[in-house]
Amino acid sequence: MRRIKELLASKGDSIWSVGPDQSVYEAIHLLAEKEIGALAVMDGDRLIGIVSERDYARQIILKGRSSETTLVKDIMTSNVVTANGDQGVRECMGRMTEKRIRHLPIVDNDGKLIGMISIGDLVRSVIAEQQSTIGDLEKYISG
Ligand code: AMP
Repeated sequence: MRRIKELLASKGDSIWSVGPDQSVYEAIHLLAEKEIGALAVMDGDRLIGIVSERDYARQIILKGRSSETTLVKDIMTSNVVTANGDQGVRECMGRMTEKRIRHLPIVDNDGKLIGMISIGDLVRSVIAEQQSTIGDLEKYISG
């Protein structure tokens, strides 16, 4: 079974982040520029939260607040669910489904952020793994 660290090695380990005192507007701008759905919220090198498009929809648009005057720390989720590189891709997929989240920050044994995985990355990885298994089985059957 593929592990998260192998997935990170193939997808790259770029981590896009914002600070807690940046405006929500700046965060949304970065999300759009990088074509991603969530950002790690960092206080120096410490992961203190996560902010996603869903937070923007629910906490800003629905509540009629301004993204320019609301700070990231006011809408982020502080209780971050993380995984480490030794965990399996399927295990993490199960965790994300259970928690209804689409983003998973990956931390090392010291708690340092080393990457960010989305549910799309995991789905792509599982499909590639299954295609490879199917290919092996086809070769086996056809001798
Ligand atoms: P998402 O499905 O990732 O767009 O996020 C849905 C909600 O869960 C938002 O409120 C996010 O802030 C929150 N969220 C996303 N990823 C995580 C995570 N890894 N740990 C905790 N909360 C998260």
